[in-house]
Amino acid sequence: MFKNKINLPLPEGIKEKGEIEKLLGSPFFRLRFPPYLETTFRKFHLEHQKKLIVLSLALGFFLYMSFGILDFLVYKEFLLQLWFIRFALISPIILLSLLYIKGAKKEERVQWALSITLFLTGLSVVLFVIITSNDPSQKYYAGLVLVIFYLYVLLSLRFPYATIAGWTITLAYLLITIRFVKPAPDFLVANSFTLVIANIMGMAGNFFVEKTLRKNFLLTVLNLIEKEKLKELSHQDFLTGLANRRFFNRFLSREWARARRFSHPITLLMLDIDNFKEYNDRLGHQAGDECLKSISRILKDFGRRPADLVARYGGEEFAVILSGTDRKGGMKTARKIKERVSCLRIPHPGSSVSPFITVSIGVCCVIPGEGMKIEDFIGAADKALYTAKSKGKNRVDFQEILH
Ligand code: GH3
Ligand code: MG
Ligand code: MG
Repeated sequence: MFKNKINLPLPEGIKEKGEIEKLLGSPFFRLRFPPYLETTFRKFHLEHQKKLIVLSLALGFFLYMSFGILDFLVYKEFLLQLWFIRFALISPIILLSLLYIKGAKKEERVQWALSITLFLTGLSVVLFVIITSNDPSQKYYAGLVLVIFYLYVLLSLRFPYATIAGWTITLAYLLITIRFVKPAPDFLVANSFTLVIANIMGMAGNFFVEKTLRKNFLLTVLNLIEKEKLKELSHQDFLTGLANRRFFNRFLSREWARARRFSHPITLLMLDIDNFKEYNDRLGHQAGDECLKSISRILKDFGRRPADLVARYGGEEFAVILSGTDRKGGMKTARKIKERVSCLRIPHPGSSVSPFITVSIGVCCVIPGEGMKIEDFIGAADKALYTAKSKGKNRVDFQEILH
């Protein structure tokens, strides 16, 4: 009944598992979440229950119509009135309500439409009781119990709506029969008693169903929060398997702080494939992706120490963090990477610098000091890369950090 998936965005503010867990642990007496969650629950409820509501209303419609047979078999003398109410008044109302609900977008409207439809249906059964009141057995009374049972248990009406509908039908029955039928007191007491019990049983059943739905909803939200957290925590770039930009940023902050504390040098390489747009344009995106993977494989051979990191920084840009490596070591590594890429000899028909794929690399190295910013560090490596590009590509350049 409840698919374990949700198509709705999580509302603002429910990013914390703890809050949902607290709600899960608290009693469900009130059947109401805090407002921000309640709105989502109702949308969720509508999305997942609509089919069920339409189906059970259609079933109710056919069952209600089929009671026309009973009218015919038992109360031929009132057939005209009974059938008029049943087929000309109530059946079209149920049908209209069905159509309305199918198109409705707001959960409250669906609930109201259902409650009103059910109230009118219940009222029609009360009318049947009155029309046939010369029969002391009150055969339609049982129909009333059926309507009440149906609206609480089968219809996916939420608790407050079901309760209002159930009790107003009961009240209408009592008031109208007292006014028009004037039944014997013991008869009235017995009937009222059964109806009240039917309502209480219905309320209990309905309550437990809604409680389960709400619990399910909370569990689904919990799953969703966990998935989002996982996504946030996921470190990898999908295509290359290297670290992604988000992880690069976290890693660099950590290493920057460490280098500063221990006055170690830290080196950053920014690498960009030369004329890669042209490569894609000529050979296709697929070939482009393969090329990115080949270069990633080379990069994985560098930055192997625990405090080093190779990341995919952007589309065809890569970054290498080398902790504890000085300028000389950084330049050496950069040149090695450049050589290894050239040695791959991946044909590049549109390159301005070589018949094969080449890369340009910008290097920056620093011992982080007071007042130095990571952004300036990245900016310097970027500037070095820009210099390498403007000086003809397929080369390595260095840039001091400016601050
Ligand atoms: P330059 O030598 O100055 O770096 O020129 P360029 O063509 O390499 O640089 P530009 O920034 O103009 O183009 C980068 C291209 O990289 C654009 C896009 O087609 C390609 N690209 C970016 N991400 C991907 C990717 O994930 N897969 C593929 N196949 N291509 C990508
Ligand atoms: Mg680029
Ligand atoms: Mg490029």
